Amino acid sequence: MKAEGWKDRLVYQRKNFWKTATPREREEAQVFAAGYMKFLNTCKTERETVTHVASLMEKKGFHDIDIVGKADRLFRSARGKNLALAVIGNQPLTDGINLIVSHIDTPRVDLKQNPLSEDSTTELAVLRTHYYGGVKKYQWMSTPLSLHGVVIKDNGETVNISIGEKEKEPVFIMPDLLPHLASREQYSKKIGDAVSASHMQVVFGSMPYEKEAEKLKEAVKLNILYLLHQKYGIVEEDLLSAELQLVPAGKARNAGLDGSLISAYGQDDRVCAYASLQALFSLQPDKLDRTAVIYLADKEEIGSESNTGAKSAFMLDFLADLLKYNQESADSMNLRKTLIKSQIISADVNAAINPNFPEVHEKDNAVHLGFGVSVTKYTGSRGKSMTNDANAEFNSKIIRILNAAGVNWQTGMLGKVDEGGGGTIAKFMAEYGAEVIDCGPGLLGMHSLYELSSKADVYSAYRAYRAFFEKA
Ligand code: MN
Ligand code: MN
Repeated sequence: MKAEGWKDRLVYQRKNFWKTATPREREEAQVFAAGYMKFLNTCKTERETVTHVASLMEKKGFHDIDIVGKADRLFRSARGKNLALAVIGNQPLTDGINLIVSHIDTPRVDLKQNPLSEDSTTELAVLRTHYYGGVKKYQWMSTPLSLHGVVIKDNGETVNISIGEKEKEPVFIMPDLLPHLASREQYSKKIGDAVSASHMQVVFGSMPYEKEAEKLKEAVKLNILYLLHQKYGIVEEDLLSAELQLVPAGKARNAGLDGSLISAYGQDDRVCAYASLQALFSLQPDKLDRTAVIYLADKEEIGSESNTGAKSAFMLDFLADLLKYNQESADSMNLRKTLIKSQIISADVNAAINPNFPEVHEKDNAVHLGFGVSVTKYTGSRGKSMTNDANAEFNSKIIRILNAAGVNWQTGMLGKVDEGGGGTIAKFMAEYGAEVIDCGPGLLGMHSLYELSSKADVYSAYRAYRAFFEKA
């Protein structure tokens, strides 16, 4: 028998979106990407993301669960840093919900609690920093940064800060060492040691305060404090409790001559936050069987810790309230049963195979840019340590749903075995006893200042999440 008749049915082959998509799908992918890029430009931090999403709620018909209680579209934001939204389906919640969890914090450089000083050698005002999450420190040197966050004044008033995104605003630089003088300090060292945390000071000003002729100590620092007080009404002590973050300044850009890619900071994991949000917005409560929930969590990059991370009680409490307002028992037994019957997508990015460093992947088990969303059974490191390992039954169910919906998908591991590794929120969600699987687009240069995504994969993620809510 000739292989031609049955070969394609028997052999697995991942499908390139751009080869298989209809002209309309290509157009939809471009339109979806444009909305996503606007979202990235508005949401540089977890707080800005929560503020932005909360501002959409009224227009999208979502009600604050703490005010309205019962409605078919509900949300709750907490501590300005994490947020959950639900669309109530026709089935009882006790039958299980469909939940998509992503994270809205990103690797960055925070300011230390006592950040401002005048460097005695150079007489420059500098900000001392503390990196957050898995960053390659050298990438943050000599590149324009913007400052975002909140300062709480002693009267309790919150001052929102965002400096460096608008053309007219200043940006901030951590100056790297010139190559001419780097031979001992940097070139002789391992790459991870070439820039240490203490090298990551930001130059914040150079002009001394000189309104009066008096000789002032640390006049450059004093001038900065004077300017901060003039503009924001804050004093140095207010900085000691503030949350201020440095992120790459600037906007998301089209990448590649064909405009098929997106270059932007913070796509891990705002790509999944945006895709799951749009999927949820597209749902019709009366046509939905299982209740659909998305959770945009904070603190994933440092292990889902703190009371705004996925390990906190936030999600359980939200689900308990959903049960209560749906006239179902919210006691701990029913809550547990609901969770065990639930299906959860841990929506996070994966590492796509990089043409510059293909050797850290095994080609057939790596995510390829442009071939759709990755269905990732496990992440972790070494012998599948520290990961959720999705069950074959659930893994297959997700694939069948994506196939039926015509969504481009692929399977992908986080690099070769023993090459390194990493984790997602999946393993914390699995502690509830629910079915959990990782599913999200691949990125090139993950955790760098300019992560690269494919519009095909961003759009495929949206379609995958929508199919999950409607069909799973
Ligand atoms: Mn992530
Ligand atoms: Mn990450």
